[in-house]
Amino acid sequence: MKAPLVAACPCGSQLSYAACCAPLHDGLAAPDAAALMRSRYSAYVLAIDSYLLATWHASTRPQQVAADDPAAAPKWLALEVRRHLATGPETAIVEFVARYRVQGRAYRLHEISRFVREAGRWYYVDGECPSTPLKSSRAAIRRPRSADE
Ligand SMILES: [Zn+2]
Repeated sequence: MKAPLVAACPCGSQLSYAACCAPLHDGLAAPDAAALMRSRYSAYVLAIDSYLLATWHASTRPQQVAADDPAAAPKWLALEVRRHLATGPETAIVEFVARYRVQGRAYRLHEISRFVREAGRWYYVDGECPSTPLKSSRAAIRRPRSADE
């Protein structure tokens, strides 16, 4: 699926796709981990599996992104980036909530993702639920949980 460049970017930035995630999908290095996170979400929406794999750190990258059963593939609805924090010169975390639907049921993914920069490019490493503290950034997750959880 290829998005029209003038359409609103799937990541919810309010920018056009051309002014937001498209350049990253075309190979431009993401300026920071939050931008990479948004572009990866857009790539999920647009099913650009090659981009998802290319921005996945080699140590945690899966063989494939697509679900074996297409009926079980999530339909992504919305992204909310809650927090972006540098945890070191080449590391960062991004906390987000993504909403999606699978076979008519609505789900909500709340994750703190870890990113690392190598040779000027950011990569997604892994993620955890906010209730499970990240060892490298324990202080960062000490915040009251929002009421909708
Ligand atoms: Zn975008």
